[in-house]
Amino acid sequence: MEPIVLKIIYGVFMVIYGIIRRPHEKRNKANKVVNNQKDILEKVTLFLVMIGMMLLPLIYIFSSLFGFADYQLTLPWHIAGIVVMTISAWLFYRSHKDLGRNWSVTLEIRESHTLISSGVYSKIRHPMYTAIWLWVIGQALLLNNFIAGFSGIVFFGILYFIRVGHEEQMMEVTFGEEYKAYKRQTGRLIPKF
Ligand code: SAH
Repeated sequence: MEPIVLKIIYGVFMVIYGIIRRPHEKRNKANKVVNNQKDILEKVTLFLVMIGMMLLPLIYIFSSLFGFADYQLTLPWHIAGIVVMTISAWLFYRSHKDLGRNWSVTLEIRESHTLISSGVYSKIRHPMYTAIWLWVIGQALLLNNFIAGFSGIVFFGILYFIRVGHEEQMMEVTFGEEYKAYKRQTGRLIPKF
C-alpha cells in the first residue's frame, strides 16, 4: 500500500482511540483521588509515550523530515497491521468500558475504587496495556519508518516495564488477598483460561 494510504489509516485509528477515551476522561475528572502514585518517573514516561505514539507519527504524517529512515513492507504486513489495530481498538474500548470510573491515565486509587474482575478483566489483568502493545505493533506495520514506526514500541515498552510491577503492588496494598487471588486466576497480558 502507498505510504499516504497507510498514514491516513493510522490517522483514522488515532481519532478512534481519542473518541473511545474522551468520555472516560471527562467523567473520571470528577472522581476524587485518594492515593496518587504519580511520581516523576511516571510523569516522564507518560510524556515519552505521548511523543512516541502521537508526536513522532504526526511529524512523519505531515512532513518529510524522517524520510531518510523509511523502510518497505509488503501488502500482507499492512493487512496484518490493520487487523492488529482493529483488535487493539476493540480491546481498548472494552477495557475502558469494564474499568469504568476506576480508569485513570496514571497510577492512582480513586474514592470508592472497586477491583474489577469481570468482562475482559476476568482473564487478563492488564487488557488496556495488551491493547496498547497491539497498537504499537500496528504502528510499526503501518508507519514504515524507523523513527515514527518504532517509537511507540520503544517508549510504551519503557513505560510498561517501569509501571506494571508498581501498579500491581499498589493494587495489592489496596485490595490485599482479593487482588492476590485475582492475580492467580488471570494472565498479565495474555488471557488465562
Ligand atoms: N493496567 C490496567 C488498567 C490501566 S488504567 C489495564 O491495562 O487494563 C490504570 C489504573 O487502573 C490504575 O491507576 C489502577 O488504579 C486501575 N486498575 C488497574 N487494574 C484494575 C482492576 N482490576 N480493577 C480496578 N482498577 C484497576
